Amino acid sequence: MNGTYLNINLDHLKHNFNYLKSKIHPSVKILAMVKAFAYGSDAVVIAKFLEEIGVDYLAVVYVDEAIPLREEGIKTPILVLHPQPESFNNILKYQLEPNLYNFEILKAFQDFLEVQKVLNYPIHIESNSGINRLGFIFNELQKLVNIFKHTDCFLIQSVYSHFAASEDPKETHFTNSQIKAFEEFYNSLAKHLPNQPMKHICNTSGLLNYPEVHYDMVRSGIGLYGYGNHPEFDTYLRPVASLYSRISNINILNPGDSLGYNRSFIATHKTKVAVITIGYADGIIRQYGRGKGFVYVNKVACKIIGNICMDMLMIDVSKVTCKVGDAVVIFDSNYGAQKLAEAIGTISYELISTIGPRIPRKILSSI
Ligand SMILES: *Cc1c(COP(=O)(O)O)cnc(C)c1O
Repeated sequence: MNGTYLNINLDHLKHNFNYLKSKIHPSVKILAMVKAFAYGSDAVVIAKFLEEIGVDYLAVVYVDEAIPLREEGIKTPILVLHPQPESFNNILKYQLEPNLYNFEILKAFQDFLEVQKVLNYPIHIESNSGINRLGFIFNELQKLVNIFKHTDCFLIQSVYSHFAASEDPKETHFTNSQIKAFEEFYNSLAKHLPNQPMKHICNTSGLLNYPEVHYDMVRSGIGLYGYGNHPEFDTYLRPVASLYSRISNINILNPGDSLGYNRSFIATHKTKVAVITIGYADGIIRQYGRGKGFVYVNKVACKIIGNICMDMLMIDVSKVTCKVGDAVVIFDSNYGAQKLAEAIGTISYELISTIGPRIPRKILSSI
């Protein structure tokens, strides 16, 4: 313990879950994204809690992320968005549901299931409706239908797509074109299938901004963790993760004195500088340094000055009454991570999901 820790507030998670649930019809399922250690928090703790409060599905991106969840006894179905062939054994062993996103992975998984003599294995099919990342396009449908006609390896649990810009009001035209492309894809595929797979396209901003396309399920990540990609939604949501640090040393710089590596800060007047116990190895990358980022000491915003070090950073506390040992807020419910992220032109997702493993997680819950 170095005075730096990440609080994970499960009451806030429950609040966000209920808020998002209040925005969807009771028959619509909720899938919670717990990829990347549940956006940098603690995937096992988050997934267990969500299972208790009634989440319908979980999703990760790579198979290895799902294994600790199963080992901790989580039974909820887990969708794996971007599985790789090396992990097919573990998909079966841990009963995970792969997204098959191109013909290569589909054929490889089919061959694998045939060798294992497995029938009706639950899978998901991704439709590329315009993000151009993963998924099949309309022109590939005929070939896809043919494969499904000639095998009973698969049970298609869902057909889904992913929005590229559902948070951006300037992109509604494009988002609507994605919806149209996805509907065409879904309908053309589903009519050839023995079952009706679930249909889903919404991430958090899709859920909030496109209520007409919630379909059978919505997939939320950032909203559950407390960010709504919009100031209005941010007021209804509560950040699950709060990052705190500590002042470990204070120096007074005189005009002309330099600070830290490469002497990137030179004092022009008397400057009180505090050293805090977190650095770029913990996810507060160097871009936040040199006056761009800021943290809070006794409710006052303090600029990060000089170059951020691997394990420490320095802040200007000239205008704050403070002493060694005082707490520093990097982000919390009052000072959202999106504000700090915006200071270097990035997004809340990136800041919260890169908080390093050295920082202890403290779980807070009143339940
Ligand atoms: C990460 C992800 C989501 C969740 O997105 P949020 O914006 O965090 O709600 C949903 N679907 C897919 C395919 C994703 O990769």
